[in-house]
Amino acid sequence: MSAPSFDKKASSWLEIDLSALAANYNLFKDRTGSACETAAVIKADGYGLGVDKVLATLENQNCPFYYVATLEEALHVRSLTKKPVAVFGGLYPECEDAYIHENIIPVLNSLEQTKRWQAAAANHDIPLPAIIHFDTGMNRLGLDEKETKKLHEDSSILDGLNIFYMLTHFACSDEKDHPMNDGQLEKFLQVTSPFSNIKKSLANSSGILRKDEYHLDQVRPGIGLYGGNPLPEAKNPMAAVVRLFGRILQVRTVNQSCTAGYGATYRFDKESRLATVALGYADGFLRSLSSNDNRCAHVYYQGTACPIIGRVSMDAIIIDISHLDKMPHEGEAVEILGPHQSVDDLAVAAGTIGYEILTDLGQRYRRYYI
Ligand SMILES: *Cc1c(COP(=O)(O)O)cnc(C)c1O
Repeated sequence: MSAPSFDKKASSWLEIDLSALAANYNLFKDRTGSACETAAVIKADGYGLGVDKVLATLENQNCPFYYVATLEEALHVRSLTKKPVAVFGGLYPECEDAYIHENIIPVLNSLEQTKRWQAAAANHDIPLPAIIHFDTGMNRLGLDEKETKKLHEDSSILDGLNIFYMLTHFACSDEKDHPMNDGQLEKFLQVTSPFSNIKKSLANSSGILRKDEYHLDQVRPGIGLYGGNPLPEAKNPMAAVVRLFGRILQVRTVNQSCTAGYGATYRFDKESRLATVALGYADGFLRSLSSNDNRCAHVYYQGTACPIIGRVSMDAIIIDISHLDKMPHEGEAVEILGPHQSVDDLAVAAGTIGYEILTDLGQRYRRYYI
């Protein structure tokens, strides 16, 4: 695919395909069936893609429920939708009124938070919405075993609260057949067994696609909505949402024994042709994509892979174009993410995961929503 002819003033640009996002939401929805609610996780600015546009797209698909990470993200999302919005980060101390006034649901991660929320409910003389998070193995957030035991012994701890869901989160759902997956399901069913009338939420994107048993009453997909592959060992079932192009700033020929880039880390063994492309680590094009003796990442010129040479700098990368039949011109585009290189491919080259590639996508990129 050749790059579209967008504004010549844009140095590098993102195309975000909102119809692909909608299709991915519907893939999860179809997979889980009508008895299960398909919420959407739109934290971190909609995984870096722009939460306003992401939310508007999901609203058109009638998404019934949203999760974010922080209170401030929730306050922003609240200004855009009337649907329930819940905060994974919990109930922040001395912020109870902010949640109440804006009708934001805290994911209560401890009995201390539960107590504060209950006191707020008593003060205002209204039942307050809440989600209870049980830790079943992540040891990151949620009620631990001791707190869970206390809750089992005294369910009045939940009096005055309107519990929308009880939830837990997979630690290893991206790994096929990891024993923790079934182990966490079992533990979650056990800790929630005294609350048979309260709905349960477990699965992220990977969990949804692994086993129907994990769906329960609500699923919480994130990465798959944005095109990341929830099943790393298999072909990606999600539609690609992001394409990224960079503009060629200059082309040049170098002699044998020249070096390229900061630190002169790359030395040429023959005369070579190079192009300098307008994106760098300030754009979230990770510095770990610099070449070294063991690996080198690529970008694509009209479908042909061109290796990145030397270090990624703040605003530019250098690529080797010696092998191209047709020499590119200044101002032409190369594909960084697109049909030849997925978010997950680039993540592997950078030694990271697709989540980090997406959430690092820079604010300097011109963004086109299509
Ligand atoms: C981020 C997050 C999700 C979404 O996970 P994906 O792997 O992106 O689908 C779901 N639940 C919790 C608690 C999360 O923090």
